[in-house]
Amino acid sequence: MYPRLTCYGGVGEIGGNKFLLEDRGSRVLLDFGTGFSDGSDYFSGGIEPRLVNGAGDLFEFGLLPEIPGLYSEKALQNTRLKHSDPEVDAIVLSHYHTDHTGRIGYTDPEIPVYCGETTSLIHSAYSDSSSSPLDDHEVRKFRTGDRFRVGSMEFVPVHVDHSIPGAYGFVIHCGDATLAYTGDFRFHGPAGSMTKDFVEAAAKERPGTLLTEGTRVRENDDGVNTSESQVMEEAMRLVGRSRALVFSSFRGNDVDRINTFHAAAEASGRRLVVSMKMAVLLEKLSADRKLKVPRIGKDVGVYVRRKRTGKLDDSDYFSWERRFLGDGVSASDVRAKQREVLLHLEAWNFPELIDIKPEKGGTYIHAATEAFNEEGEREEAVIKNWVDHVGFTYTQLHASGHAPMREVKALVDGVGARKVIPIHTEHPEMFAAFRKGKKWKLAPPLKGEPTPLV
Ligand SMILES: [Zn+2]
Repeated sequence: MYPRLTCYGGVGEIGGNKFLLEDRGSRVLLDFGTGFSDGSDYFSGGIEPRLVNGAGDLFEFGLLPEIPGLYSEKALQNTRLKHSDPEVDAIVLSHYHTDHTGRIGYTDPEIPVYCGETTSLIHSAYSDSSSSPLDDHEVRKFRTGDRFRVGSMEFVPVHVDHSIPGAYGFVIHCGDATLAYTGDFRFHGPAGSMTKDFVEAAAKERPGTLLTEGTRVRENDDGVNTSESQVMEEAMRLVGRSRALVFSSFRGNDVDRINTFHAAAEASGRRLVVSMKMAVLLEKLSADRKLKVPRIGKDVGVYVRRKRTGKLDDSDYFSWERRFLGDGVSASDVRAKQREVLLHLEAWNFPELIDIKPEKGGTYIHAATEAFNEEGEREEAVIKNWVDHVGFTYTQLHASGHAPMREVKALVDGVGARKVIPIHTEHPEMFAAFRKGKKWKLAPPLKGEPTPLV
C-alpha cells in the first residue's frame, strides 16, 4: 500500500539514517548515512571494508540495503545485485553529518541530492580540501520558505538548530499522507528558535506521521542542558585565567563552537588559530548571508603543519593549502607566542605538540561529548595521556547537538501527529512514556519493513 516508508537505518541505533519514502511512481531517500557502530563486529581493529569491492563488503554483513536502482555501477561491480538505471528519484539530505551523508558515495551519481544552501557550501569546502560523499552528484539547493517537488511528493524544508549549520527538518506531502521528519535537533543552541519554527510549521501542515530523532531518550540521560552560551562563559573563564598555551579539540564543522572559541580568544587578547581544513570551511561559509563566522587572516590564524621536507615550501603542500602558507602559523610561531594563542588542534594532530614544545602548565579544553562506548573511552584515555605528557590541565566542556528527553516530548506534543516513529535512538520503546493522556500511536520501526503512511 502506498505511500509507504521503509527504515533501513537509524532503527534502534543512533545515526545511520536511511529512510525510503515511496508513492506510486516516486521514490525518495531521506538521508543515507553511516551508522556509528556499523559493522564494528566485523570491521574494527584495523579491518576495513575494501574500497575496491564497492558495496560488496558492506552487503556481506547487511550494512547496506540491497535496493535495486540505487547504487552506482562501480559500487555493484562485484555483487549479486546488478546495476540498473536509477529507480530512486532523489536523496533529500537533512544535514551534513556523516551519520546522514556517509553512504551517499555508493549511490548512482545520476540521482540528484537536495540539501540546504549552507550544506552545499560545507560540501564544497570538504570537496576542495579532501572529498565529499556528494562529489559525483548534482546538488540542488533549498532554503526555509521554499517548497520543492520530487515526482508526486512535495517537500517543505524548515530549518532546525543542531551542532552543524544548515540543518533541516521536512514536512512531506505524499499522496494522501503527510509526513514530518525532524532530522537532528535541539532547542538549547544559539539558534534554538529555528527548531520552534519547525514545530510550528509542521503542526500547521497537520502531519499524520512524525519521524523523530530521540538520541537522548534513554534512562541515563542526565537531562543536563548545557547551552552553547554556558560553554562560552566557561571557555572565557578558562582561557582568561591561563598564563600559558591553550589548545582545544572540537568538531571542525560546528560553527557555533568555532564562534564560541573565537569569542573566548578575543576576550583574553589571544588569537584563535585553526587548521587549514577549517580555514577552507570558514572561507566558504563567509558567503552565507545568514551565518556569522570569523574571517580567515583577519579574525583567526591558520596553522601550518610541517610536511615532507619541513621547509614550509609550496612543493610540500596540496594546491588548496598553498594560499595559507604566507601568513600561516607554524609550530615555532605558536611556541614563540604561547600566551597569545588559542590553538584548535584535532586529536589526530596532537603529534604537532612535539614540535610546538609548549611550556608546562597550559590548558587543554576537550570541547566534545563524553565517551559513550568502549572505543570512545579508549580514545579519551589516549587524549588524556597526551595532555599529561605536555603537563597541561584537562577540562571537558560541551553542549549537545541533541535535545534532552523532555524537549523531544515537547516536540512530539507540539507537532501533534497521529502516529510517531522514533528513529536515531537506541530506545524507541521509551517514547511510550510520552503518550500519557495522548491519543497518538507509537510505531517503533522495523528495519527494512515498509509501513503504510495512511
Ligand atoms: Zn547530526
